[in-house]
Amino acid sequence: MSKSIQAIRGMNDLLPTQAPRWQTIETTLRTILESYGYQEIRMPIVEKTELFCRSIGEVTDIVEKEMYTFADRNGDSLSLRPEGTACCVRAGIEHGLFYNQIQRLWYMGPMFRHERPQKGRLRQFHQIGAEVYGLAGADIDAELILMLARFWKLLGLQDISLQINSLGSANARAMYREHLVAYFSAQPHLLDEDSKRRLQTNPLRILDSKNPDLQSLIQGAPQLLDHLDAESQAHFAELRAILDAAGVSYTVNPRLVRGLDYYNRTVFEWVTQSLGAQGTVCAGGRYDSLVEQIGGQSTPAIGFALGLERLVALLEQQATPVRDTSPHAYFILAGNEALVRQGLLFAEQLRDALPQLRIVTHCGGGSFKNQFKRADKSGARFALILGEEEWANQQITLKSLRQTEAQQTFSVAGLIEYLAQHI
Ligand code: ATP
Ligand code: MG
Repeated sequence: MSKSIQAIRGMNDLLPTQAPRWQTIETTLRTILESYGYQEIRMPIVEKTELFCRSIGEVTDIVEKEMYTFADRNGDSLSLRPEGTACCVRAGIEHGLFYNQIQRLWYMGPMFRHERPQKGRLRQFHQIGAEVYGLAGADIDAELILMLARFWKLLGLQDISLQINSLGSANARAMYREHLVAYFSAQPHLLDEDSKRRLQTNPLRILDSKNPDLQSLIQGAPQLLDHLDAESQAHFAELRAILDAAGVSYTVNPRLVRGLDYYNRTVFEWVTQSLGAQGTVCAGGRYDSLVEQIGGQSTPAIGFALGLERLVALLEQQATPVRDTSPHAYFILAGNEALVRQGLLFAEQLRDALPQLRIVTHCGGGSFKNQFKRADKSGARFALILGEEEWANQQITLKSLRQTEAQQTFSVAGLIEYLAQHI
């Protein structure tokens, strides 16, 4: 026997036992997104590498060390998308979606980052994201966050809390950067290798460090919130006022800077204590200069992405309900070929009449006893039986697999009527 081939580390299969939970999330979120006026967009999984370098930033973890980059046959440098925002902006510019328009868009799909696989960190993971273009005010920032609060409520999610911050304008950040560099440069012995490098290239990113040894140094750093420009201050105050009025609780986390370069003003994360180190389930923020930076006309924008694997893990832990995909009925066909043929036709008649019916027809023959065992194992509520006697009378027997009721025998029309009432 030859050695079997295994999946790539950090890239998981999603098995049929897990799929209903994903589907429950996807359906719930899609319904809410549509109810807020968001429309779906689907982008390719592969883009030109340059797109991510120019948007996410050359000196971010993602671009420096996490991208799956390869040369196409013609030599072009391509990358598997590490996130969706840059792709969405590229698509919007290319198809003229932004000019003089307001767009509320959402997408869902796999993202790829070459990280060290661990709990909550994969190399292929999945995000649902939403992006809004053409709106600059705090009203849309707040609405986006209110929509997320509704996500959690309708999914039945507990233990998730909101952190917000403002990154201000590019000017305010440039000024703040100098304060930060002065602060960190005064204590170089306390910095790790990564942070020493960041000090030259992107000092704000030091605030995002996950190194526990750096946390007290980071705690003492000057805060961007104290250096905001007046407009950003007003924007942030309005966002807070709407969240307060809506009764959404949050903490202002002045060290929340996000791992990507394109953000300004509002940034936020939804975090949980229940997942260990990888506790950020959803993250987003405003990125008013990105569209122009990628070659479009200046367009204000805000968006978020939520990590589906982390959300799934959390909902599993909290044992929230999932959609039932088990069959309503398992159809036992105990007889010869002609009986099986008749059974398949009966099943089609049931499906014609009851499009919502989930019915598994037994294929592959075998004894009645054996087929009955399979019916039991299928999780179906009813066994339907076509045996010699039923066949002779053009009838079908129904037996409940959950309750000990007497079985009943129906004509096809009678069975349709019964099932219509009971599924
Ligand atoms: P982290 O700080 O956890 O590395 P990030 O800032 O790199 O997150 P974003 O790029 O903002 O993450 O992605 C948004 C969300 O996507 C995260 O909050 C998380 O839920 C999920 N996510 C990001 N990277 C991974 C990964 N490697 N595996 C699983 N989920 C991920
Ligand atoms: Mg990351």
